Amino acid sequence: MADWQTLSDRINNVAPSATLAVDAKAKAMKAAGVDVIGFGAGEPNFPTPDYVVDAAAAACRDPKNYKYTPTPGLPELREAIAAKTLRDSGYEVSADQVVVTNGGKQAVYSTFQVLLNDGDEVIIPTPYWTSYPEAVKLAGGVPVTVFAGGDRGFEPDLDALEAARTERTKAIIVNSPNNPTGAVWSAETISAIAKWAVEHHIWIISDEIYEHLNYDGAKTTFIGAAVPECRDQLIVLNGVAKTYAMPGWRVGWLIAPLPVAKAASKLQGHMTSNVANVSQRAAIAAVSGPLDAVYAMREAFDARRKAIVAALNDIDGVTCPTPTGAFYAFADVTGLLNRPLGDKGTVCTSSSELAAALLDEAHVAAVPGEAFGAPGYLRFSYALADDQLAEGMKRFKQWASR
Ligand code: GLU
Repeated sequence: MADWQTLSDRINNVAPSATLAVDAKAKAMKAAGVDVIGFGAGEPNFPTPDYVVDAAAAACRDPKNYKYTPTPGLPELREAIAAKTLRDSGYEVSADQVVVTNGGKQAVYSTFQVLLNDGDEVIIPTPYWTSYPEAVKLAGGVPVTVFAGGDRGFEPDLDALEAARTERTKAIIVNSPNNPTGAVWSAETISAIAKWAVEHHIWIISDEIYEHLNYDGAKTTFIGAAVPECRDQLIVLNGVAKTYAMPGWRVGWLIAPLPVAKAASKLQGHMTSNVANVSQRAAIAAVSGPLDAVYAMREAFDARRKAIVAALNDIDGVTCPTPTGAFYAFADVTGLLNRPLGDKGTVCTSSSELAAALLDEAHVAAVPGEAFGAPGYLRFSYALADDQLAEGMKRFKQWASR
């Protein structure tokens, strides 16, 4: 590329989405005839429930859906999301606080765009979902990572968060149940973060997309319900992707104090306008309907969770704490580094190299911890069929044991 063709610093400073990159590579290998087992992207392997698909099919036939809708979403959908929030999270929000976005990811992106000025800092409990720091950087902000390891159940330590706070701290991310660790943070930790944020005037961005996926009696603590006084500085992010097996429909939302919601809608008006109407109609059916589908999926995920944690811990050099939420197992693989693996005796010096070798040689896709600010780990999404899970773990063990 000639100098004049150089792309912006803004985009050059952003890493590609590792979760999507692993997923794309695994799917491309599959399309080329390679039998890949995909533990990559967190994508439920269940179909979207029939009543949701039926609502979408009917919407396709209704000409009113061929037009633009208001940028922040169909009024009926915003109402339904407000009602669903009261039902599931236990506190009241108004429909005009809701902005319907193109997947949860646009809600993340827009939130930082409207909150941050150049140099503003965002505290990101680490391990974190791979897109958070990049969205912060795209808004001119500075990600400040605060690590908590498996020894403390990947649960943030308030003293460490406080040590990371500066005069530029503008926001903190809360994500429980957590991607990538599967941890469900305790009510005490979540309440303490909320009170600390209130005291220091810090925005709270709570990503609750895995809200219904918890196991072993763990409970999602909704920060806005636990500490009502934080609601004026709380932005909740959510979507239909994980709860209703609808990742491809691209419907997420944010719920924010009115000025923030209006600003996000203004931004969206220049970016994507409304989310596709057919998807919005499907989302109305999803969020107004029962939670049976997610409870059925949760049961299946629970069995897989137990199976994968047992299988991972059965591999010499791998340790995996038992997650109680979402559908991810986050395994410490440092014991596999710097030693020969597989038929070729491949030696990996990082989890990133390990993930690449595991995919190339054993045809097992997992996302390296580097993507989540946690080198030395691999993330396995167990939202895949039981037989695939068993086969993938068998391959990993055989490869790692040679
Ligand atoms: N959120 C899912 C994951 O972490 C889907 C892929 C993505 O958007 O990152 O795998």
